[in-house]
Amino acid sequence: MALLFLLLFLFFSLAHIGVDSAYIPYNTSQQIVEGKLNVHVVAHTHDDVGWLKTVDQYYVGSNNSIQGACVQNVLDSMVTALLKDKNRKFIYVEQAFFQRWWRQQSDIIKETVKGFINSGQLEFINGGMCMHDEAAVHYIDMIDQTTLGHRFIKQEFGKIPRIGWQIDPFGHSAVQAYLLSAQVGFDALYFFRIDYQDKNKRKDMKELEVVWRASKTFGSSLDIFSGIFPKNYEPPPGDFYFEVDDKSPPVQDDPLLFDYNVKERIDAFVAAALAQANITRTNHVMFTMGTDFKYQYAESWFRNLDKLIHYVNKDGRVNALYSTPSIYTDAKFAANETWPIKTDDFFPYADNPNAYWTGYFTSRPALKRYVRLMSAYYLAARQLEFLIGRSTSGPTTDSLADALAIAQHHDAVSGTEKQHVANDYAKRLYIGYAEAEKLVRSSLACLTESSSKIGCSNPTTKFELCPLLNVSYCPPSEAYLSNGKYMAIVVYNSLGWKREDVLRVPVVSQYVSVQDSEGREVESQLLPMTDSTLSLRMQHVKAYLGSSPAASPKYWLTFTVSVPALGFTTYFISGSTISGKVASLETLYPSEGSTTRSVAIGKGHLNLLFNANGGLFQYSNGKNLVNASIGQAYKFYGAYNGSKSDPQASGAYIFRPDGTYPIKPEKTEPLTVMKGSIVDEVHQQINPWIYQITRTYKSKEYVETEFTVGPIPVQDGVGKEVVTEITTSIASKKTFYTDSNGRDFIKRIRDYRKEWDLQVNQPVAGNYYPINLGIYIQDESKELSVLVDRSVGGSSISDGQIELMLHRRLLVDDARGVDEALNETVCTNDGCAGLVIQGKYYTKIDPIGEGAKWRRTFGQEIYSPLLLAFSEMDGGNWGSSHVSNFTVMDPSYNLPDNVALVTLQALDDGSVLLRLAHLYEVGEDKDLSVMASVDLKKMFPDKKVSKIIEMNLSANQERDAMEKKRLKFRAADYTGAETVSRGSPVDPSELIVELGPMEIRTFIVNFTYIQLRKS
Ligand SMILES: [Zn+2]
Repeated sequence: MALLFLLLFLFFSLAHIGVDSAYIPYNTSQQIVEGKLNVHVVAHTHDDVGWLKTVDQYYVGSNNSIQGACVQNVLDSMVTALLKDKNRKFIYVEQAFFQRWWRQQSDIIKETVKGFINSGQLEFINGGMCMHDEAAVHYIDMIDQTTLGHRFIKQEFGKIPRIGWQIDPFGHSAVQAYLLSAQVGFDALYFFRIDYQDKNKRKDMKELEVVWRASKTFGSSLDIFSGIFPKNYEPPPGDFYFEVDDKSPPVQDDPLLFDYNVKERIDAFVAAALAQANITRTNHVMFTMGTDFKYQYAESWFRNLDKLIHYVNKDGRVNALYSTPSIYTDAKFAANETWPIKTDDFFPYADNPNAYWTGYFTSRPALKRYVRLMSAYYLAARQLEFLIGRSTSGPTTDSLADALAIAQHHDAVSGTEKQHVANDYAKRLYIGYAEAEKLVRSSLACLTESSSKIGCSNPTTKFELCPLLNVSYCPPSEAYLSNGKYMAIVVYNSLGWKREDVLRVPVVSQYVSVQDSEGREVESQLLPMTDSTLSLRMQHVKAYLGSSPAASPKYWLTFTVSVPALGFTTYFISGSTISGKVASLETLYPSEGSTTRSVAIGKGHLNLLFNANGGLFQYSNGKNLVNASIGQAYKFYGAYNGSKSDPQASGAYIFRPDGTYPIKPEKTEPLTVMKGSIVDEVHQQINPWIYQITRTYKSKEYVETEFTVGPIPVQDGVGKEVVTEITTSIASKKTFYTDSNGRDFIKRIRDYRKEWDLQVNQPVAGNYYPINLGIYIQDESKELSVLVDRSVGGSSISDGQIELMLHRRLLVDDARGVDEALNETVCTNDGCAGLVIQGKYYTKIDPIGEGAKWRRTFGQEIYSPLLLAFSEMDGGNWGSSHVSNFTVMDPSYNLPDNVALVTLQALDDGSVLLRLAHLYEVGEDKDLSVMASVDLKKMFPDKKVSKIIEMNLSANQERDAMEKKRLKFRAADYTGAETVSRGSPVDPSELIVELGPMEIRTFIVNFTYIQLRKS
């Protein structure tokens, strides 16, 4: 009652002094004004597709004790806020969230939203399923997840996103610029995370906005205008956060109420605009009004933005308008400015002298490997889906596509999410895999059953796959084969060229033999299963299946397979009365104080010498005549835990080493050497938690290193970052090369940046780069290349040396938001232990100029392992009832050595998405950096191409149209003189696809014989 009285008193007293308070029609219709400083107010929300909460928890708004975030609220409240004023504009980015929301909307809401999109009130920016990471992602995954989002937007709304919006990833890649931006048709790309030293210099030089020329091969033809935000992707300094619970003062313009603050708010806005204009070229600046999970009650933001725009324009010092990144980009373009050129990429990223975000290149190595494996599996499964026809009733590859797309998010494969969220990504991948596996099994059954040439409804052949082969668990190959039973292994090759590889499956008996599809005995070799392998198997099968396998396999059975391009062949394992050839076993005990004893492995061209202490010391290749001394060892960096005065710790994002500690092979552990006709192996227990197998294959010229690292001990309170290093005498002069997302190799110089004088505060972490394909060093005579099986961080810390960070286990958080220590464990009902990582890397030394062939061709084989399907047969002749050999292509045809098939996918409408990629850069190889051509008639001899349309990279528009309309910003020192080699348009009667170096071409193809399969 007293309150009411007080309010009445206030009302009357204010009314008496004649202040007016009524509805104010805010003028929000302002457009760009020439000759004034234009402030582009961009209302946006940054919605992580999983980070502290899972993607679904963020969407529905559950688990809010972790983070108050509900994307449904954002999208629901956007609708009412945009309806209120047609001048209001909003951008939306992450399609994984938008699609979740869209499918639940009524027709009325859908129509309303379509109206917003058509009028430009709502614009899709970036448009992929997520805002993918740029360090730990492979270019094929970047393309796939972008395509998925872009095609949805095109189909549902007829729109094509124009702007790249990578505002949060932790450093920016060349491939993102010239491939995923320029070649999807973006007119500009915006982001903010670049090295703080770089940023400071760019502010001084007004060089935050540049023309990024990221590709050596394509030069200016794939330039992209790139804007780096001055601080971050949040509102400018001056308190402009307007979420319901934000602390910024709202614009209070009701004179009847206390705390009227229009003048202060407008002054703050104008001050921020002038400050930004000081470091920006042209009279356009962008205010990113929003940040993580904002606009959950959109009206709260728009109410204030309306007022700011209204009063700022009344004030008149600057011109404020509702805008979008597209409008801003068009204004920049119209300004006819000449922009500085940026080449290469923006790695590594540091936001402080001791905060290099180079740890996440390796964080969560198991998830990174799983993503890579699933990526290749998805590629192969789509081919099989294409071959038998896309089912209208499932199973399909769609759920794997979705899971993989989400896993490319910058807090997913990057390893910077909370543990429960990492588990969620892995679960989604597994669900997608399980559905795709059904498709793979039934497709292979269709393709192998002779009778199914006409169609395939009910194949009877049952295939089993072995997803746990990495922990030596494969029930079908471990079956006892007696009384005429045999195992058929269908080996599918998703590459466009014929390939030879060595298979390895666990078996229970040495009485086995291997036959090829013609029934000829194939040379095989048995390697005894080591205790180390078996104990790893025991623990992980238990963790995975809940119970330990009953029996243990005794041997690895290895044999060489030869598989046609884009097709399969079949091998048979059967019981035998005579034992297979078991590898010879030699145990070498370290002789105290003596290194004179040594052991050689290598049956083919490649030979390696090890000394008795386990050190690798000589590499020689009889074919390319390379002889080199070489060393390989492990070490770890002690993770800095932070202190009161210097709190920056090593964590999920940041690599901050505190000392380097060599890991020497344990003196007591002998070297086990296995030799046979196919493969030689040296087994080393390096220490209680590192086991290593070094392999040479008779038919190959590289070294395969299989490492098992973990559980990393942390009882001493020190987190550890475990590294393998390879040392040679190559005079690499501080220079090394690392790939960009598995594609271009970029030159790196230790302790040096091209753009500014680097202040070296972190000599190790500041020289780490992301590696998805490989790293190499060279001098006048040799080059040393190391290829990887997943994304990792690596460097060349001294001349002649290459190192890879394989695993990291940390005890404290690094204060970048995840608020959890990166301390991964694996649990069974016996308890939890630190995560064990197993993986491979591959090493080769070539004469200078010869390394690219191996890096590119073998790199593609690492990415796309052979797919194995097992079927146990109880007698009978496989060949009489099954097709044993199959290729999609003309049997005499292979894709050229410099071309990979990146996508072959049946789409819902019956058309086919086809992508081909040239694998070499200009000048990379003397033979293969040339125009290549693919003959589609020979690639698909059984099908007739009725229509072929060349598309842009994300297949949401025709390439011609995209190239015609893409804005070409003027770059400083642009000469326009370079010639770029690109394939000419495809003649529909000739059907020859030409590809220039590094070119990726995307087509929508209609085949006459493709039909939707009804099941
Ligand atoms: Zn983010």
